[in-house]
Amino acid sequence: MIVVLTGAPGAGKGTQADLLAERCGWRKVSTGDALRKHVKLKTQIGQVAGAIMARGELVPDDVLFQVLKEELGNDPKEKILLDGYPRNVAQATTLDSIGQSNPVASAIHLEVARAELISRISGRRVCEKCGATFHVVASPSKSGNTCDRCGGALVQRPDDGAEKVAVRLDVYEKSTRPVLEFYQKKSLYREVNGEGSTEMIFKRLADVISFIK
Ligand code: AMP
Repeated sequence: MIVVLTGAPGAGKGTQADLLAERCGWRKVSTGDALRKHVKLKTQIGQVAGAIMARGELVPDDVLFQVLKEELGNDPKEKILLDGYPRNVAQATTLDSIGQSNPVASAIHLEVARAELISRISGRRVCEKCGATFHVVASPSKSGNTCDRCGGALVQRPDDGAEKVAVRLDVYEKSTRPVLEFYQKKSLYREVNGEGSTEMIFKRLADVISFIK
């Protein structure tokens, strides 16, 4: 079963998907993480995607199609949480066609106000080595600039700077928000308040997800 986790950049999809994976047996599939891996390894996909991602724009649908097929696998019994895909209606249609053996059971939207999104993204720091995420105010690492998990250096993602964040939020409103209506029409849409502490949001999400069959 596939559950799509939607929300604007900074809504906390990645953090919550990690928790649901750790505590509730879901497998997180993040197209953003997969693309960053390609960029790091300088694969063909990485060479196409790197500059586009750094500008805060969307990577072309045909590239995402390849990434998604690679990441989804083909175990129909697996519980997959999809983070970062679909980001437009064309991708939502594609997911329907490739997910026939493992269809989308629900799309859960994490709603967060724009000012809160900006504050979360501007303080976000990620470990260069293992990808763990921290926030300079809300969840700082113990040492300040190294990762608590593996000791790697904490850096700001190249697309988390103020100018790029504005682009990403605009792209979200224009291209990704219509995806919510796509799932509303199929009666698969659920909304969760994405503000509050990580644990509070986790409880709301875990509650909603426990009813999905
Ligand atoms: P994320 O980590 O989900 O915020 O994704 C980081 C960046 O990767 C986005 O700003 C896009 O440039 C790219 N990306 C991730 N997922 C997609 C997608 N489904 N479609 C197009 N671009 C994507």
